[in-house]
Amino acid sequence: MVNPIPRLVRVSDQATATAPKRVTILGSTGSVGRNTVDLIARAPERFAVEALTGYRNVSLLAEQARMLHARLAVIADPDLYGALCEALAGSDVLAAAGPEAVAEAAARPAEWVMAAIVGAAGLKPTLGAVRRGAVVALANKECLVCAGDLMVAEVRAHNAALLPVDSEHSAIFQIFEFERAEAVERVVLTASGGPFRSWSKERMARATPEEAVAHPNWSMGAKISVDSATMMNKGLETIEAYHLFPIEKDQVDVVVHPQSVIHSMVSYCDGSVLAQMGAPDMRTPIAYALAWPRRMSAPVERLDLVRIGALTFEAPDENRFPALRLARAALVAGGSAPAVLNAANEVAVAAFLDRTIGFLDIAAVVEDALAAVPARPLADLDAVYAADDEGRRVAQAAVARRTGKN
Ligand code: NAD
Ligand code: MG
Repeated sequence: MVNPIPRLVRVSDQATATAPKRVTILGSTGSVGRNTVDLIARAPERFAVEALTGYRNVSLLAEQARMLHARLAVIADPDLYGALCEALAGSDVLAAAGPEAVAEAAARPAEWVMAAIVGAAGLKPTLGAVRRGAVVALANKECLVCAGDLMVAEVRAHNAALLPVDSEHSAIFQIFEFERAEAVERVVLTASGGPFRSWSKERMARATPEEAVAHPNWSMGAKISVDSATMMNKGLETIEAYHLFPIEKDQVDVVVHPQSVIHSMVSYCDGSVLAQMGAPDMRTPIAYALAWPRRMSAPVERLDLVRIGALTFEAPDENRFPALRLARAALVAGGSAPAVLNAANEVAVAAFLDRTIGFLDIAAVVEDALAAVPARPLADLDAVYAADDEGRRVAQAAVARRTGKN
């Protein structure tokens, strides 16, 4: 099967733009969102902010909206509307609340939209931005995992563009020769290995949420930090890479590289391997997407290879980290399987974070869910939501079985 290629580059974007770029940040209060705000605040003459959205952090959202002179600030929790109005009193920023208002924020006219909501909750607003032909900087990988084929079809139908923000995919975007895609042999995603890289299964069975979110190299939100610890993150990224780049499902490899200096690699048919390197700071891939098709300066630590001294690599251990194998199986099964995988993983990670299940139960719950729901074709968005619902339901049941509450 020929993989659908999102239109990553559009002629109109190559023109020299002088007017400030109008931008919206979905999930501005999160880790990727805050890094995006930081870059924009350092180059205020280059950007005009249309909308910012957050879930519950009213004070940070209001502070960002005032600082960046946003037109609109949206808090996803409808109960916090009054608090947001109060926090914005005396400013020109419009306030709105609720999930529908988040989707409306995405539909407002901004040429560039950062999709940095975590999980399947980001699907609807991200699609809203795609459907009006925006350039969408995609951090929210769960969107592509659960609705990849549909999303890519929408990107093409509406002449939108997806720019990868995930550091691995930004790396690949920077080194992938799109005009000579047939010469690409493999795409190699690097993984730090997470905080439990060298832990035994017995030790991992007793891992606490605090230990799981303490990532050695990157500072990130809680959900993706747990995904890094289980290596489900690399599984989700394998699926993400398949949708973003013109490659087949079996052309994505994962290699553990604890220093997180090489962010990913592309190998070509002549034996050449290109790698993109940098300090592990999300502001580099965010700046790449923000300034694309140009570059902008980012205040990140410069890479000092002499100080680092050695870069090391090892194979991932799929016995201790079964999530990687599960994600690959879901990619191969196709249809609804990745949506079920993603939904079950969201449920399991939340249950682990609130100490309902143990760390090793996360992959076990996902495995149970995949076994319980046969892969079905996904004809439309309703089918994606149905698969997401079913994945959540069977995963909740699997969590309850593990805690004896069925
Ligand atoms: P985070 O938890 O720090 O932030 C998530 C954002 O989404 C916050 O603004 C939160 O308010 C908002 N949000 C959460 N639930 C919501 C809901 N139901 N409705 C509306 N808004 C909601 O997460 P993060 O680490 O910034 O990650 C965001 C996305 O980027 C994830 O998909 C993650 O996988 C991806 N990503 C993150 C990093 C990183 O370094 N943090 C790197 C690569 C990819
Ligand atoms: Mg990544």
